[in-house]
Amino acid sequence: MKLDQDDRAPGGRVPLIVMSRVGKTYETPAGTFTALSGIDLDIDRGDFLAVVGKSGSGKSTLINLLTGIDRASTGSITVAGVSITGKSETALAAWRGRNVGIVFQFFQLLPTLTVAENVMLPMDLCGTYVGKRRERAMELLGRVGIGDQADKFPSALSGGQQQRAAIARALANDPPLLVADEPTGNLDSRTADDVLGLFADLSARGTTVVIVTHERDIAARVDRNIVLRDGVVDSDTAGRRVRAAE
Ligand code: ADP
Repeated sequence: MKLDQDDRAPGGRVPLIVMSRVGKTYETPAGTFTALSGIDLDIDRGDFLAVVGKSGSGKSTLINLLTGIDRASTGSITVAGVSITGKSETALAAWRGRNVGIVFQFFQLLPTLTVAENVMLPMDLCGTYVGKRRERAMELLGRVGIGDQADKFPSALSGGQQQRAAIARALANDPPLLVADEPTGNLDSRTADDVLGLFADLSARGTTVVIVTHERDIAARVDRNIVLRDGVVDSDTAGRRVRAAE
């Protein structure tokens, strides 16, 4: 995605996501339940942030809205100047394929495809020239440090390697936004550390990385923490860098 100089806010920041007065309600048998209310958030290009909060605080709901998996009940969300709140389902799915990479706790690689084939899968959405797909997959696997695992099936890889493969797959279409849902929840602490380092590198290269987690440890590794409580932003360290000196 191209961002012009005009997109730059004062201070060189380049806003990627702007959420304005966003709310989400669910209809339940017991009545209308408010999962999120009054969310105002600006997330910049290259931001490395964690959305933290207790179970039920609204983390998944927030992520589902900003990735276009679900729709806000109120308010507006723009990504790189494009409103996603007004898009049709079809347009939203196409938008998501090009603009958002998602990494899951349990990797969700297809077991019957090799690692390289898993990485090539999302390229269908963007119509990457078939003859270029393998080359691109190899480049991405090299970038996440598992180029030598490309032709194995996922079950032959360690948990950390599978998560790296999943990150490579999420990057297949070079999205400006990478969202990771509890990405280290299934990894030992050393491997988790490596994966967080990889996310930090990606953010330094301009990808916005949003990690959803209930693990407070991760909070110390990112640049910004957004804490949700009962569907509202309880605190946001934007502007105050929280990452410990490295
Ligand atoms: P978190 O990811 O922080 O655990 P969620 O975003 O999943 O929180 O949920 C926030 C609140 O919204 C919770 O109280 C949850 O029960 C409620 N909720 C989430 N999805 C639905 C749904 N589809 N229908 C009704 N309530 C829901």
